Amino acid sequence: MYSKFDVTILGNSSATPTKDRAPSSQYVRLGPHNILLDCGEGTQSRIHEYSLKLQKISVVCISHLHGDHFFGLPGLITTMSLFRRVEPLKIIGPKDLEDILMSLISAGDSELSFQIEFITTNPEVEEVILEHQDYQIQTIPLKHRIPCTGFLIKEKGPTKRVNVDACREKNVPVSFYESLKFGYDYFPNNELRIPNSEVTWELPEKRSYAYISDTIYNEEIIPLISGVDLLYHEATFMSDREDRAILTFHSTAMQAGLIAQKAKVGQLILGHFSARYSDLTPLLDEARCQFEDSNLSIQGETFFILKKELKTV
Ligand SMILES: [Zn+2]
Ligand SMILES: [Zn+2]
Repeated sequence: MYSKFDVTILGNSSATPTKDRAPSSQYVRLGPHNILLDCGEGTQSRIHEYSLKLQKISVVCISHLHGDHFFGLPGLITTMSLFRRVEPLKIIGPKDLEDILMSLISAGDSELSFQIEFITTNPEVEEVILEHQDYQIQTIPLKHRIPCTGFLIKEKGPTKRVNVDACREKNVPVSFYESLKFGYDYFPNNELRIPNSEVTWELPEKRSYAYISDTIYNEEIIPLISGVDLLYHEATFMSDREDRAILTFHSTAMQAGLIAQKAKVGQLILGHFSARYSDLTPLLDEARCQFEDSNLSIQGETFFILKKELKTV
């Protein structure tokens, strides 16, 4: 059985917000874990609006230091502290983020009620930046006007479920159940082997979500996001403004679709739309010319991360 793995769009606008679109932020729920991806201005208000849990966020990932991706963070942290949070918070982001945040907080004469652990990203290389028993976060170097990384969240954990009746029948001790969940065979003695498959059931395949924030069209990311179940890719402009996209190190909807097609992902969601577009349908149409399973990231909407074959069931 699948555990929860979904992403709620808290903001999908580029630099300037519009009436219906706030700057970038997404709330990822993976089992009991809550991860915030970018934190544009007003993110905490939308967390309340969509009935998500502010204090349950354990990790915040910031892609880069353009204001539309992190200006909501000082306010969010301060609120956590005002509600007397005690659990530590991990913040993954560019190297200057810690100094900026801490000087803002100390300028306001606030003292935080909890510890922040800063983890610095390296925009030059992809790396596993956080390893947890249930998931892994990997950075993806992007090409933008300033250092920028995307994030790949991969589900981890057991691959098998223990068949307790079969285990009892074959006298597999309870102390070995944990090893069974990870695919190990049981050896009662030197001559006997009980194959794992006889005493377990397969769990569904692990899922993955890639968050590609601001970037110029860049095929170098394709091997890193190949086959992910859900890809978010920025689509600031339409193709008729490709010159502008190149100049500002952004992508067009067509290019986002092309990346999704070449990386053979399960599903694509587009975001980071320029404020010039009030109707987003033409951007969606453009992406769908390249990759059929493209969707618009609508603020407040939740996308489930599912294996492709299960989506049609
Ligand atoms: Zn941006
Ligand atoms: Zn940017």
